[in-house]
Amino acid sequence: MAVELKVGGLTPFSATDYPGKLAAVVFVQGCPWRCRYCHNPHLQRRTPEGAMSWRDVLAWLRRRVGLLDAVVFSGGEACMDPGLARAMRDVKALGFNIGLHTACIYPQRLQEVLPLLDWVGFDIKTPFAHYRLVTGVAGSGDPARACLDAILASGVAYECRTTAHPDLLPDAQLLALATTLAARGVDNYVLQQFRAEGCADASLASRPLHGYPAASTLAHIGAMFARFTFRHHGS
Ligand code: SF4
Repeated sequence: MAVELKVGGLTPFSATDYPGKLAAVVFVQGCPWRCRYCHNPHLQRRTPEGAMSWRDVLAWLRRRVGLLDAVVFSGGEACMDPGLARAMRDVKALGFNIGLHTACIYPQRLQEVLPLLDWVGFDIKTPFAHYRLVTGVAGSGDPARACLDAILASGVAYECRTTAHPDLLPDAQLLALATTLAARGVDNYVLQQFRAEGCADASLASRPLHGYPAASTLAHIGAMFARFTFRHHGS
């Protein structure tokens, strides 16, 4: 029997999760990382049944044909789910564009779904050697690097983004990361400022952000990419 996607939640209508498109967002359960700034810790654990069945989501999407442009698979980490490619094919058959939000954890599953994607928004969290400080998982920079290279090689439209907090990514590290990304071929980069609302880590949430990143840091980073955005209240 085919594996069914474990859905943790659904946003029926979003104008901000897929650039230029009206999209539904399907949140997939499960994530093996434990980022200190995670805003979706309730999605980290996979439950036996999921919060709602994929069949019900698909039936709902059938009634949205002509009303929405796209479906974005988010998480948690959508690429953790063995049912992801099948779910994407189901959605593509309805005529929707397919978007993916990924933290770049599973290069093999990403390779499997890249041919199905119209757009991908992916996180690169910090310089690859320092990933454990953000994710809590040793060696987590290695799959992130592999996913980055796979996305860039695929030609799929993308947005590469990093959540910026001064305790995790001081200005010097931001510059080092941006330099690495530009050297690997990233040309569309978004720096999103950490949001305290919804973050369970009190020490991160209470840290003043005034003056971070420095204007000179942002100017340096901006000069490295064809497209650069500093998002003050990033997702
Ligand atoms: S990768 Fe994303 S979902 Fe997983 S712990 Fe980090 S922020 Fe949360």
